[in-house]
Amino acid sequence: MKLAKRAASLTPSTTLAITAKAKELKAAGHDVIGLGAGEPDYNTPEAIIKAAEASMEKGYTKYTPSGGLKELKDAIIDKFKEDQGLSYTPAEVIVCTGAKHALYTLFQVILDEGDEVIVPSPYWVSYPEQVKLAGGKPVIIEGSEEKQFKITPEQIAHAANDRTKALILNSPSNPTGMIYTEEELIAIGETCIKHDLLIVSDEIYEKLVYGEAKHFSIAQLSAELKERTVVINGVSKSHSMTGWRIGYAAGPKEIISAMTNLASHSTSNPASMAQYGAIEAYRGSQEPVEDMRKSFENRLDQTHALLEKIPGFRCIKPQGAFYLFANASEAARATGHESVDAFVEALLSEEKVALVPGSGFGSPDHVRLSYATSQDQLTEALARISRYMENHQ
Ligand code: PLP
Repeated sequence: MKLAKRAASLTPSTTLAITAKAKELKAAGHDVIGLGAGEPDYNTPEAIIKAAEASMEKGYTKYTPSGGLKELKDAIIDKFKEDQGLSYTPAEVIVCTGAKHALYTLFQVILDEGDEVIVPSPYWVSYPEQVKLAGGKPVIIEGSEEKQFKITPEQIAHAANDRTKALILNSPSNPTGMIYTEEELIAIGETCIKHDLLIVSDEIYEKLVYGEAKHFSIAQLSAELKERTVVINGVSKSHSMTGWRIGYAAGPKEIISAMTNLASHSTSNPASMAQYGAIEAYRGSQEPVEDMRKSFENRLDQTHALLEKIPGFRCIKPQGAFYLFANASEAARATGHESVDAFVEALLSEEKVALVPGSGFGSPDHVRLSYATSQDQLTEALARISRYMENHQ
């Protein structure tokens, strides 16, 4: 059977090939260390699990409103108020089946065929695909290493035209871990106002911020910016709830209402018990969130220091999320590989360490290492990478 054009043109995830090979090696009894994880390695805090269990015991196992339970929307609204001083009404919030689904639903309701969306690279792999699935055209602008992978207002102005609908911002960023400062966001915001762009602000890593860095939502910087921003967030990364599939969008009422209509015909609602768990995530103690953040920061410090010592790797120290995004072009060249992709494959075959090649993020000179795994594993993985470098020069 012939597939629809939109399915046929979907690019398969480049991370999948390496993950599949890592699994294959593991199944064959090899001691593989996977540094590809996009999720915290901690279990969901106990109180959240208990709250979800209690909801099921009480019989809250039925459909909920399509846009999410009122109690959960209220908890999200209070969180926005407390963290960013932002005020939303329930009609300006939709709870979705993960932040990924919130983004998917958003692009479906804002894009017409041929509308353009500016996507800064390195980008999270799903942005360009989701834009294309909605009939839109991703326009990539490059966040260079010299500028800490951040894009500038000039680049946005240069890319914007009559068809440009939106800009995607992801701070803290996956894969780079970079965070835009308040001043940078103000300057970007001014350009978006000038070119009448909607800002899609993906803040899923908001709680994972290290050192002196501080997270700002572009929506909190002025009423004018709030009006043209849809904030995307969720509990996956902050509360180690990736499997629960709860994310949300907050923004202008007309957009949220269209998203809610679409959700009513696609998912009906996110799983009821997961929504009760998410209420506890926001209403309960935030201590586990801070504990996880601290432990990620320790790993970041240790792992970054170790990586810096390996010749051929160059890595700006990230300020957030749980990834190191290192330039490995020199390491690939020094060990006789044509590309970083080939280097990553060889590292997996020979040393059984799985990194994610940067090509999938629009940055083929880089590799992404997730430090969402134990320090012992991280230390061992870096020792293996060092050994590979020594053996092949
Ligand atoms: N946005 C970014 C930048 C991510 O890295 C991820 C997950 O990897 C998501 C969104 C999706 O998160 P969720 O689990 O809520 O769908």
